[in-house]
Amino acid sequence: MIEALAELIRNHQPCVVLTGAGISTESGIPDFRSPTGIWARYDPMEYASISAFRRDPAKVWEFYALRFEVLTRAEPNEGHRALAELERRGLVCAVVTQNIDGLHERAGSQDVVEVHGSIRTASCLACGEHVPLADVVTALRDAPAPWCPKCGEILKPDVVMFGELLPMDAIDRASALARAAGVLLVVGSTLEVYPIAGLPEETLTAGGELAIVNKGSTPYDGRAAVRIDGGAGEALTALVEALS
Ligand code: NAD
Repeated sequence: MIEALAELIRNHQPCVVLTGAGISTESGIPDFRSPTGIWARYDPMEYASISAFRRDPAKVWEFYALRFEVLTRAEPNEGHRALAELERRGLVCAVVTQNIDGLHERAGSQDVVEVHGSIRTASCLACGEHVPLADVVTALRDAPAPWCPKCGEILKPDVVMFGELLPMDAIDRASALARAAGVLLVVGSTLEVYPIAGLPEETLTAGGELAIVNKGSTPYDGRAAVRIDGGAGEALTALVEALS
C-alpha cells in the first residue's frame, strides 16, 4: 500500500497533508477519541469550551495546565520529520493541522496552517495582551492559572475551544489548499471535527484524490484512493523511503 501511496503522490501533485491528533500520539500526546483519548477522562464541554472558560476559567486551566505539561514535554516524532522531509523534497506543499502542539514546525515543516491555533501564546480577552508559552508555563508553576501581566485578568490559551470560531485566515487558506490539491493526504484524524472534516470533500469535488493513513476508520474511507490502517510514524517513514 505504501507503493500505491507513493505512486499517487508522484502523479497527483501538489500534495497537501491534513493531520490530526493521531500524528502526535507517538510523541506521547493522547488523542481525543480513541479509547485512551482525552475525552474518555474529561468532558470537552466542561473543560475545553469557550462557555466553560467564561463560566469558570480556573477549572478550564486545570485541564489546560495538564495538557501544557504534556505538550511542552513532547518532541516531534518520525511522522512529523517525514512530512518535513517530503516538503524539503518538494513532494508536500503544505501541512494543515488540527493540532495545537506545534510539533510540525519543530520538526522542520515550513508551511504549516494551524486551524485550531496553538499553545505558542496565550491572550488576555480583556486588554488583548499576548503572552508567550514560556511565561505561561512559569506562571502555572506557582498558580492554578496565568494572569495578564498588563491588566491582571486571567489569560486564555490561543487555541480554538469548542463553541469558538476557527481563525478565518487559517480556514480560508486550508480550504484553498484543499481545493487546489492533486491529492489530500489525511494522517491521524477521525475527520469528525467540522469544518476541517469538510476539507476532503473540497478536494474530491475539485477533482483531487484522497489518501488516508489512520488507525481506525473515518467517514471518508470509501472515497480514498489509498487507505492505510496503521501507525503514522511507520507509514510516513516508509513513504519517504518509497519516494527516494
Ligand atoms: P481524534 O482523537 O478525533 O482522532 C485521532 C485519530 O488518530 C483516531 O482515529 C486514532 O485512532 C488515530 N491514531 C491515534 N494514534 C495514531 C497513530 N500513531 N497513527 C495513526 N493514527 C493514529 O483527533 P482529531 O481528528 O485531531 O480530532 C480533532 C480534535 O482533536 C482537534 O480539535 C484537535 O485539535 C484535537 N487534538 C489535538 C491534539 C494535539 O494538539 N496533538 C491532541 C488531541 C486532540
